[in-house]
Amino acid sequence: MKAEIISIGSEITSGQNLDTNAQWLSRRLAELGIPVGFHTTVADDLSDNLAIFRLASQRANLVISTGGLGPTQDDLTRDVLAEVAGVPLVYDPASFEHIQQMFAKRGRVMPERNRVQAYHPQGSEMVFNAVGTAPGIWMKIGDCYLAALPGVPSEMYLMFQNEIVPRLKQVGLGGGGVFVQRKINTFGWGESAVEEKFLDLPRRGHVPEVGITASDATISLRILARAENYEAVEKLIAPVELTIRQRLGSLVYGFEEEELQHAVVKLLNEKRQTLCTAESVTGGLIAHRITQVAGASEWFYGGVVTYTDAIKHQELGVPLNLLEQYGAVSQPVAEAMAQGALRKFRTDLAVATTGFAGPSGGTEENPVGTVYTAIATRETVASLRYSWFGNRQEIQSRAAKLALNLVRLKLLELPTPAGTNS
Ligand code: ATP
Ligand code: MG
Repeated sequence: MKAEIISIGSEITSGQNLDTNAQWLSRRLAELGIPVGFHTTVADDLSDNLAIFRLASQRANLVISTGGLGPTQDDLTRDVLAEVAGVPLVYDPASFEHIQQMFAKRGRVMPERNRVQAYHPQGSEMVFNAVGTAPGIWMKIGDCYLAALPGVPSEMYLMFQNEIVPRLKQVGLGGGGVFVQRKINTFGWGESAVEEKFLDLPRRGHVPEVGITASDATISLRILARAENYEAVEKLIAPVELTIRQRLGSLVYGFEEEELQHAVVKLLNEKRQTLCTAESVTGGLIAHRITQVAGASEWFYGGVVTYTDAIKHQELGVPLNLLEQYGAVSQPVAEAMAQGALRKFRTDLAVATTGFAGPSGGTEENPVGTVYTAIATRETVASLRYSWFGNRQEIQSRAAKLALNLVRLKLLELPTPAGTNS
């Protein structure tokens, strides 16, 4: 059993748009226990489409295509499917009715060109599109089932869930158990260091499989398992997850799509701590990320972006002699910034960043990519220096993560007050 996803459109092959349909479909198919063997992307070109659909229908048991069902000249999927199947296109009055109604509902007259959307290869089924004019197509070519869906993501999602999944089950595809991925997110170590800890865990082809991916200094471990039902999958995943959590301890900050800011806000709430920010190199990015999390307002008071030496002094009271002696990118200045913010905002915690994001600047001691981040409480102040390779945006993003992680680790040290729901 192998599925292939075909994404059609010159806007994708030209690099203008990113193919998110293939990503989304692959995840849905995986959940249904259908492995995807191929992603193919093809421009709006007749002979290339013919070649691709011929090949796909021979090498895959299931093909799902998106795009090319519109009313214009460059929408070729209908013709391509008819030709590959060796059948003529036939007219479907019910689909025509629906297309006309979609225009009427918006108070518009249907352009004559849209009539072509009511045609489909003889022997195929039209797939209802409740939210657009382009119906999909469901058919079988040789031994291969094939679903052609529109390119517009919102239409495609709905049609896949409501129309294609039931058809897959009907023909005995996607009924074979469930597939679950658990993603465990860590921060603070490099990819190879994390990997070294798990050399003994099952890798590709085993059940459950463990994979490691790195994205912008966040290292994630994925556990993938397949079984007949959710209970059985959970039994496979749980011991591996426990091993990972035990070995990595506080490096683990969250699951699935959780980011460091989610972990921070959750902990601020749990520990009843308030926070403010004093940012230089990150230019407000830490504050931005924290405020992305719903419920942050109760614990995050605010922050300042203090970019020049003068403003660091004026707004945060960083002593001028510190700035002169050590430079703005230094441990004493980072710590003075955090302490200044704590006084100014009267919070329990304050976090600060200062660094060189590049591409120019830096010193011999602190080259481009060097960041200091500091955390202050009323009693303590601590800081951390880190240096990365990367472009300006990457350095800023990683600096924000480093600072958020410092807040997280500090919060983990603090006691949880009685009566909080952790
Ligand atoms: P339809 O079959 O719905 O007529 P189409 O190919 O004619 O599809 P386009 O006009 O090419 O539609 O694309 C419609 C919208 O869908 C565009 O915004 C396009 O970026 C988006 N789209 C098409 N294919 C993909 C894809 N593979 N991933 C993400 N977005 C896509
Ligand atoms: Mg297109």
